[in-house]
Amino acid sequence: MGQLKKVQDPELHQDLVTLNMVKQVQIADGQVCITIELTTPACPMKDRIRNDVIAAVRELGDPIKQVEIRFTADVKKAPSAENAAANNPLPTVKHIVAVGAGKGGVGKSTVSVNLAMGLARTGAAVGLMDGDIYGPSLPTMLGLDHLQPRTEGNMMLPFQVHGLQAMTIGALVEEEKPLIWRGPMAHGAFRQLATQTQWGELDYLIIDLPPGTGDVPLTMSQLLPLTGAVVVCTPQKVALDDARRAVRMFQQLKIRVLGIVENMSYFVGDDGKEYDIFGRGGAEMMAQMMEIPFLGTIPITMALRHNCDAGDPESNFTLGEPLAQQLEGLSRALAGQISIQSMSEEGQRPSLTIS
Ligand code: ADP
Repeated sequence: MGQLKKVQDPELHQDLVTLNMVKQVQIADGQVCITIELTTPACPMKDRIRNDVIAAVRELGDPIKQVEIRFTADVKKAPSAENAAANNPLPTVKHIVAVGAGKGGVGKSTVSVNLAMGLARTGAAVGLMDGDIYGPSLPTMLGLDHLQPRTEGNMMLPFQVHGLQAMTIGALVEEEKPLIWRGPMAHGAFRQLATQTQWGELDYLIIDLPPGTGDVPLTMSQLLPLTGAVVVCTPQKVALDDARRAVRMFQQLKIRVLGIVENMSYFVGDDGKEYDIFGRGGAEMMAQMMEIPFLGTIPITMALRHNCDAGDPESNFTLGEPLAQQLEGLSRALAGQISIQSMSEEGQRPSLTIS
């Protein structure tokens, strides 16, 4: 254990023993087996932690013949969600994360779907809610068209597709019917989708918001204890101006921005050359200036568009293209930020001093 006190979680900046991450140490005949519990199965620092632990144990020298590291994960609930327990309508959900954008068409729904998929593929329990009540995209992107919505009592059962629990208003109304909501109706529709869906036990619920800064984010901030939000944007200046407004909106609603994603960052031609069509890097620079984490980039990729249209998000992760690594990197970066955010909230908990 003493050696493990030397190993820090690179993101949480405390040692593994203090963080209570070392669950078991077995030693027999020079063979050491250590079980480490991560704060998320999508931990972006897993390999680094493995290497650091092995190096620390090897410092003990000759008696150590072999070191095996096993990982488990337990996603802890955000303290703010626990504190809100009395009036939290979704007590079985550990982290609620909204995905927003300054304007439509920048890939907000695409990113929502792929963040949810990336997290679910690491073994986390993940829900995806189409909060875009004006223009729901999930029926197409998840291929829900042929599925019938089901209810139990007055609760809607989420669609179980691609390893996710998903709910969208698009599956409850006629296709192509315009969705016109007055303010209070929009509020009601969002509330029903969020609270009358039987989400069950979830590590993460990703909410795809409508574009812009309208009524729905306000409703959401009053209704749900969010861990934070992700803002999606494309790199050109006019898009960044809108994205900045979206960041400011979340900040005004007291929702922490967990990160920015730059979509349509560049395009890779048949010649393998990367073309910065919209000016790659703009979003990362904006994130730096606003002191917000940057989660990563997604290039313009024909397969991504095709898989979205075909309702087949799994292929984004299985076709063996660099795209899969980029998408996995994004969801790991998000999971890391969620853990950091939960830890920092933990540190801010009021403590009682008795003198
Ligand atoms: P939003 O939710 O911001 O309105 P969508 O996620 O619906 O945007 O994306 C708009 C369109 O752009 C969709 O057809 C989607 O498949 C496509 N798209 C999004 N991101 C990419 C990308 N990186 N490469 C190729 N097509 C993309």
